[in-house]
Amino acid sequence: MTFSSRRAFLKAAAAGVAAPYVAPYLKAQQSVADSGTGNFKLADDLFIVRVPGEAAVVAHTSSAGVLLVDGGSASGSDAVLKAVAALPNGSSKVHTLFNTHWHPEQTGSNEKLGMGGTTIIAQENTRLWLQQNVTWPWNGKEFKKLPKIAQPNKTFYDKGALDSGIRYGYISDAAHTDGDLYVYFPQQNVMAVGDAAYGQGWPVVDWWSGGWIGGIVGGLQRIQSVANRDTKIVPARGPVLSIADITTQVDMYGAIYDRLNQMINKGRGPSEAVEAKPAKEYEAKMGNPDEFIRRSAESLWAYLSPDA
Ligand SMILES: [Zn+2]
Repeated sequence: MTFSSRRAFLKAAAAGVAAPYVAPYLKAQQSVADSGTGNFKLADDLFIVRVPGEAAVVAHTSSAGVLLVDGGSASGSDAVLKAVAALPNGSSKVHTLFNTHWHPEQTGSNEKLGMGGTTIIAQENTRLWLQQNVTWPWNGKEFKKLPKIAQPNKTFYDKGALDSGIRYGYISDAAHTDGDLYVYFPQQNVMAVGDAAYGQGWPVVDWWSGGWIGGIVGGLQRIQSVANRDTKIVPARGPVLSIADITTQVDMYGAIYDRLNQMINKGRGPSEAVEAKPAKEYEAKMGNPDEFIRRSAESLWAYLSPDA
């Protein structure tokens, strides 16, 4: 797009339709070192690898090679793995990969690493989602199942620990999907949580995979219970969060959940829920919530319906 046509486009967008609203506080946060691109050092042996356009990847380096929490999308996989190999004490040998959930933004390195013999750890429900084709009913988006070699080859139900002391556990509340996990690095006091907490913007409520608004609240509370005052909480999107940030989010999503719950119990539908603006006082800080509210209301429907 040339400069003038781009300007015309922006002008047209400003005149009428949905130019994405960017809250002032989100703009400010983009200048924070840990929310941009490039690597962010959490500890001497622990990094956030940020490739432009990709969700955050957490990399732990040791003499045994690299452990990753999430691996970027399939189209970003090469760039992610290159950045991982270039870390201080980094390596192209990835011995372990965690999938925080099944979404393609997280599981795009599974095939390559699976072929190389990497142990791919996920909650069992994540493996089940990756074994089937998925279509989201709200926008028709299709996701192809992964080949066998790319599927998690070590699954668990509740929790586990590695010899290195790294612990992981199921976020069973279905904050984002019904297979969310966290990985906790006790030595560095860092917790990677995928999309179970968002550092930026309203979350995607994937109710087709079990995620729901009550689960967002429950998942954040579970994160609170695992983390302590000084834990660095690393979401897939946005800057590193503190326990205070999580507490703020619990209050906000808790209030929205209560309001939506009352509306749905009175028989109101998702469109009425959006019109009622149940997130009004958060919009200036968080941006337009309509999509989030609609999905959240649908998620309550899905959750409360008898055959769900
Ligand atoms: Zn996701």
